[in-house]
Amino acid sequence: MEAMTIRRKIRSYLEAMPHTPKACVQSFGCQLNFCDGEKYKGVLQDLGYQLTDIPEEADVILLNACAVRAHAESRIWGRIGSLKPIWEKNPNVIIGLCGCMAEEQEVRTLLRKSYPFVKLVLGSGAMESLPDHLLALFEGESHREAVEFGRLPDESLPTVRDSRFQASVPVMYGCNNFCTYCIVPYVRGRERSRTPNAIEAEVRELVASGYKEILLLGQNVNSYGKDLSEPMDFPDLLRRLDTIPGEYVIRFMSSHPKDATRELIDVMLASNHIEWHLHLPVQSGSNRVLQEMNRPYTIEQYLNLIAYARKQAPLFSFSSDLIVGFPTETEEDFQKTLDLIETVRYDNLYTFIYSPRPGTKAAALPQISTPETISERMQRLLAKQRELTEAYNARFLGKTCKVLVERQNEAGLLFGKNREGLHVELTGDAALIGKMVAVRIDGVKNWALQGTLESE
Ligand code: SAM
Ligand code: SF4
Repeated sequence: MEAMTIRRKIRSYLEAMPHTPKACVQSFGCQLNFCDGEKYKGVLQDLGYQLTDIPEEADVILLNACAVRAHAESRIWGRIGSLKPIWEKNPNVIIGLCGCMAEEQEVRTLLRKSYPFVKLVLGSGAMESLPDHLLALFEGESHREAVEFGRLPDESLPTVRDSRFQASVPVMYGCNNFCTYCIVPYVRGRERSRTPNAIEAEVRELVASGYKEILLLGQNVNSYGKDLSEPMDFPDLLRRLDTIPGEYVIRFMSSHPKDATRELIDVMLASNHIEWHLHLPVQSGSNRVLQEMNRPYTIEQYLNLIAYARKQAPLFSFSSDLIVGFPTETEEDFQKTLDLIETVRYDNLYTFIYSPRPGTKAAALPQISTPETISERMQRLLAKQRELTEAYNARFLGKTCKVLVERQNEAGLLFGKNREGLHVELTGDAALIGKMVAVRIDGVKNWALQGTLESE
C-alpha cells in the first residue's frame, strides 16, 4: 500500500478516537538510539499523534531499547513488565519494543511467549515501516514484527528534536569491526554511510535554525565514506562541514583507534568549529587483551597519536571507554589499564564491567575472575581516575573558554561544555541556556571546571 494511503487510513482511525491520540517514545542507551527515538517521534507526530512523556496517557508506547550490555537490557525487561497494568486497563494500547534490542532473536522469542501485551516489535532498521504495522494493528492483527538492518533510513523521515540547540546527526550506521565482546555488528548490520550532500544539507539547516552543537554519530566515524560510490573519508567530511558559516561547535563520536589518524587531528586543530576533544575508546591498557578483543592497535600506537595532538595543543582533551573484567583479563593486564590512564590523563572515562552478549566470540570464553575481583578492579579504576582528573583539569585555570550553556540545576547553577568537551559550571541567568558565552576558569571541582562569565 502506498505511504499516503497508509497515512490517510491511520488518520481516520485516530480521528475516530474520543480523545486526542497520544504517543510516548522512551529511548535508552547510546546517542544513536536517542537519535532514532527522535525519528520515531517525528513519524508518530506526522501521523497525527500528540507526543507525551507519560506512558499512562498514551495510545502508543514505544520503548526504544539498547542491547549493548546485559545490565541495561535487564532494566528494559523490568520496564516492559511495568507497562502491563496499562494494557490491562486499556487493551487497545499499542505497546512496542524497538531499537537494537528488538533485533535479538532470543528477545523476540521471549516477547512472543511471555509478553503478549507487546504487540509491536521493530528492529533498528525497520523504522520507516512503523506506519504499516500500526495500520495492521488498527485493522485487527494482534502482533507485528519487523527486523531489518541492511538499509539506510529514508532521508525524508521527519524528526522531532529533543533539544532546541543541540542536535545529533548520524553520518553512518552499522559496524564492520566485530570486537569479540560486542553485539552491535549483529544488531545494527554492516557499515552504511550517508552521502556527504545529505549530511551537509542537514547540518546547514540546523545551523541556520539556531542549533549550536552538532554531534556527528557513527559506531566508528573514522571509517566513514568507505562504502560510498565516490569514496570520501571522515577528515574530508569534517573539512566540508567546517566551512558552514555560523556560531556552532561540531562534536563527534566514536573514533576507533585503529582508524584515527594524524590527519584527523590536523583537521580538528585547523578548524573553526570542531571541538578539540577526541573520544578514543581504548577498552584495555593491555596489548594481549586488545588482541583477544579483536581491537587491532597497540597501546604504543594509541599513545603516539595522543602525544601528536598534545604536542600541538596542550589543552586538547581525550576521553575513552574502558571494559573491566574481560574474560581473560589478569591482574597484570588490569595494572596496565591503570598505568595507561595515568599516562594519558583522560578528561573523562566511561567505564563498563564486561557482560557476555549472546552470539559474540567472547561469550564463549570462560571468565577467570570472580565478580568480587572485577568489582574491586572497577573501584580501583574509578578512584585512580578521580585522583588524576582534578589535577589534570587544573591546566585550564586562568584560561578563558567559549562555553555552550546547556542547563541549569535547581540551585540555579548553569552547566555547559567548552571546546575541549569539559563540563563547566558557572553562575548566571537561565536566559543564557543555548548560548555560547566566554567564561574565565577559576576553579576545578572533581571532573568539572568552575568559571565566571566574562563581560562582553
Ligand atoms: N563503536 C564504539 C567504539 O568502538 O568505540 C562503541 C560503541 S558501544 C555502544 C559503547 C561501549 O560499550 C564500548 O566502547 C565498550 O566499552 C562498551 N561495551 C560494548 N560491549 C560491551 C560488553 N559486552 N560489556 C561491557 N561493555 C561493553
Ligand atoms: Fe562494537 Fe567494536 Fe563496533 Fe564499537 S567498533 S560498535 S565496540 S564492534
